[in-house]
Amino acid sequence: MSTPDLHQQSLVELRAHLASKQLSATELAQHFLQRAQADTHHAFLAFNEEATLAQAAAAQQRIDAGDTSPLLGLPIAHKDIFVTRDYPTTAGSRILEGYRSPFDATVVQRLADAGMVTVGKLSCDEFAMGSANENVAVPSAKPQAVTNPWDVSRIPGGSSGGSAAAVAARLAPAATGTDTGGSIRQPAAFCGITGIKPTYGRASRYGMVAFASSLDQAGPMARSAEDCALLLSALCGPDLDRDSTSLNVATEDFSRLLKAPQGDKPLAKAGQAGGALKVGIPTEFFGDGLASDVRAAIDAALKQLEQLGAHLVPIALPRTELSIPVYYIIAPAEASSNLSRFDGVKFGHRAKDFTDLADMYEKTRSEGFGDEVKRRIMIGSYVLSHGYYDAYYLQAQKIRRMIADDFQTAFQQCDVIAGPVAPTVAWKLGDKSDDPLANYLADIFTLPASLAGLPGMSLPVGFGEANMPVGMQLMGNYLQEAQLLNVAHQFQLHTQHHLQTPGGAA
Ligand code: GLN
Repeated sequence: MSTPDLHQQSLVELRAHLASKQLSATELAQHFLQRAQADTHHAFLAFNEEATLAQAAAAQQRIDAGDTSPLLGLPIAHKDIFVTRDYPTTAGSRILEGYRSPFDATVVQRLADAGMVTVGKLSCDEFAMGSANENVAVPSAKPQAVTNPWDVSRIPGGSSGGSAAAVAARLAPAATGTDTGGSIRQPAAFCGITGIKPTYGRASRYGMVAFASSLDQAGPMARSAEDCALLLSALCGPDLDRDSTSLNVATEDFSRLLKAPQGDKPLAKAGQAGGALKVGIPTEFFGDGLASDVRAAIDAALKQLEQLGAHLVPIALPRTELSIPVYYIIAPAEASSNLSRFDGVKFGHRAKDFTDLADMYEKTRSEGFGDEVKRRIMIGSYVLSHGYYDAYYLQAQKIRRMIADDFQTAFQQCDVIAGPVAPTVAWKLGDKSDDPLANYLADIFTLPASLAGLPGMSLPVGFGEANMPVGMQLMGNYLQEAQLLNVAHQFQLHTQHHLQTPGGAA
């Protein structure tokens, strides 16, 4: 087979080539390494060719021995928020520059055990705080914002912008991401790829540099729902001894619903008790704030779901707007606590000149953290402080519960919920970089599912302004990932949006 085509293929297709011995795991790894090393989007932060090729050789041995594991020998790149033994881990921050973890994050470990071959580490917003991947601070000599492969004058989304750009530009067939308030779904939408954030607790947080512990979740980003289902099956699973919020539910085969033979109307029997799939449409997601180009693409996608046999039902998520203030109190509160460990003693950067311990802490943290991280630490410390805790933090926790309850009311009327991922397509680099509030507001549609701990995914459904990709969000009830992936897969079997490639990735 001709090598130039390799990067256009899905994981499922690539695995078939490995199985038929048309291609070796080493050739495949070399192909993607070469592409990734020529990356012009600043998506990659680190490579380790030796480690990559060693993993590929080991995978090939397993293939030669007859191992048919579905991800064996397939390349993947990891968001630089997961700690890795073979690569530096920076979380996009100067404060961790030079840090090397003595162990691999559980998610990285699980994908390696499945036989996947790591191509490198991917850029992200500092400590995953951001919506544009403009908050990256490493390498400190020359930090570069990641660019969107569909238009390099635009942002790729964040905080998993490196992951989304790498998959969209076909520098890797798959990537890991993390989603605290939308960081898998929003960059997937902005770069025209597919990504899923599972139910909170499904994926282990062990070895994921912590931002907001009650929200952080890992998940896969790839070209299709079919690929995401394979990846999610490998990366989820209980990790009870190492992550206290890990869910004690067995590892699942998230591809199982995809395999059933389906006709023209696959969603006509995909709902509860074998009825039509009921897709809830939250009125609050379709208000004035939604750009008309995004709305048009989502409306067309909803029509397509109807053609596939689904019923659309209007639902209400009345506290959608409140999810912004609630999230931007809770996430900074948790961040301020989590980031207290970066003190110049245990990890990474330490200030060179200081007079005493307090001075060392202060200088280390002033030099090591970027503006957005400092802003969150200050907000977080404020809302947790004596006298303000009740007024802000406690109040936010109460509304968080109501937001979760609203979803449960909605799920009495529908099986899944659909709507936009973001109010607009990807904006221009620099457009919102000096305006944190404008960035926060753009998270409105991803924050509700995050606060409720529900699974959510993004799939490409067309193009909007300036021919930029538009993503549709599907949200499901707890542990309903298999159903979300099946709905997305049926949509993708009948549409071509997920197969579109940005010009530079041909
Ligand atoms: N944009 C949101 C924030 O800045 C979400 C980030 C994320 O999900 N990691 O916090």
